[in-house]
Amino acid sequence: MKSNINNIREKISLACKNVNRDEKEIFLLPVSKTVDVDKIQEAIDLGFNTFGENKVQEILKKYEYFEEKVKFHMIGHLQTNKVKSIIDKVELIHSLDRISLLDKLDLEAKNKGIIVKCLVEVNIGKEESKSGIFEENVFDFIKEISKRDNVFVNGLMTVAPYCENIEDTRVYFRKMKSLFDEISKLNLKNVDMKILSMGMSNDFTIAIEEGANLIRIGTSIFGKRNYIKC
Ligand SMILES: *Cc1c(COP(=O)(O)O)cnc(C)c1O
Repeated sequence: MKSNINNIREKISLACKNVNRDEKEIFLLPVSKTVDVDKIQEAIDLGFNTFGENKVQEILKKYEYFEEKVKFHMIGHLQTNKVKSIIDKVELIHSLDRISLLDKLDLEAKNKGIIVKCLVEVNIGKEESKSGIFEENVFDFIKEISKRDNVFVNGLMTVAPYCENIEDTRVYFRKMKSLFDEISKLNLKNVDMKILSMGMSNDFTIAIEEGANLIRIGTSIFGKRNYIKC
């Protein structure tokens, strides 16, 4: 795991150099879905304390195990009926993508007396298989969020389409960065565009070159996932 991480850090560094960015801008979020707790502990020992997960049940289990030692980001599709159980146990939700979820988050955050921090998930490739809202609807959606009192937008997230030729993902990441910049300029209440979450094991160097500042890496850190166990 240590050499995997060093390998990733080197690639981050190179990608940053290519476009004159400071590598300190890049937050590496290890994605620990399906990974068991001793592997997570190994990553903790290597200096990580924040992990990405995509299933509510799994977050609850791991949250109980690690208690306050670890922070979780919810990066997967979030069902409204699971919001209540998780809203005060995650640091950031990357997958705010519809009004019904916004309504529920706003309500449950109010009930708990907290502000819930979210990224708006964009389906930048307009793929049927993926969640996220289409780019042309992002502005209206964020304006709607900005009317609420208990939900805060910290940025955008996307999962780029899988491309045979990795260079072909560039155009999608570029579109995300320009959306991100345009929304920043609006200076909306409850909106502070700080995080652009894009790039995974196969495409993170391109994402960084195009402006990502949070990359979500699973396989390249923990190895291939074993979905059977979950
Ligand atoms: C699983 C997952 C990742 C990590 O993917 P890898 O290819 O294993 O790096 C990143 N983002 C989301 C939303 C995921 O579900």
